[in-house]
Amino acid sequence: MTTHPPDFSRRCGRAGFIGMTWPTSYGGQERSFLERFVVTEEMLAVGAPVWAHWVADRQSGPVLIRYATDEVRQEPCDGVFLAIGHVPNTELFDAVLDLDDQKYIRTVDASSRTSIAGVFACGDVQDHVYRQAITAAGTGCMAAMDAEKYLESLAA
Ligand SMILES: Cc1cc2nc3c(=O)[nH]c(=O)nc-3n(C[C@H](O)[C@H](O)[C@H](O)COP(=O)(O)OP(=O)(O)OC[C@H]3O[C@@H](n4cnc5c(N)ncnc54)[C@H](O)[C@@H]3O)c2cc1C
Repeated sequence: MTTHPPDFSRRCGRAGFIGMTWPTSYGGQERSFLERFVVTEEMLAVGAPVWAHWVADRQSGPVLIRYATDEVRQEPCDGVFLAIGHVPNTELFDAVLDLDDQKYIRTVDASSRTSIAGVFACGDVQDHVYRQAITAAGTGCMAAMDAEKYLESLAA
């Protein structure tokens, strides 16, 4: 998974193993997710070096297909580098919640509690270390539990 021979990716592309589920109008194959799953599993099982095109195939490509302009979608190119930056999208809470100097929402005592009682923060907006789907889901669960406790305390 960690090696990335360009020739392997080119051969996968020629065999139709990249963009399997994408529309044919954007260079894809319009195959099912099940078919892609089978190909992926077979490749992983033999330790194929899929790393170089992995993100493009499943994340950047689908994002461009869904959100980019048609001009961008049709642009032939050898690769795409997406940079979304590292500034958390917390402008909305500026001057409302306590933010740190990098604009992440501050949470209190390893909980999801913020500077306002009853407002809880989770996921990437309060995490400048891990920023992963699984950690966001974990802190989302923490926030749900903290919110439940808060609501119970109001009822008591
Ligand atoms: C290209 C890329 C690849 C990644 N790959 C991986 C990976 O392989 N594995 C992994 O674990 N993590 C990966 N991540 C990180 C992962 O996607 C994030 O950590 C995770 O999505 C954070 O979840 P979240 O709910 O905190 O934020 P988000 O998923 O960003 O959700 C925030 C939501 O809030 C909405 N929103 C924003 N502003 C407003 C507003 N004002 N009003 C209402 N709604 C609003 C947004 O539209 C969005 O739906 C990747 C991220 C990127 C960008």
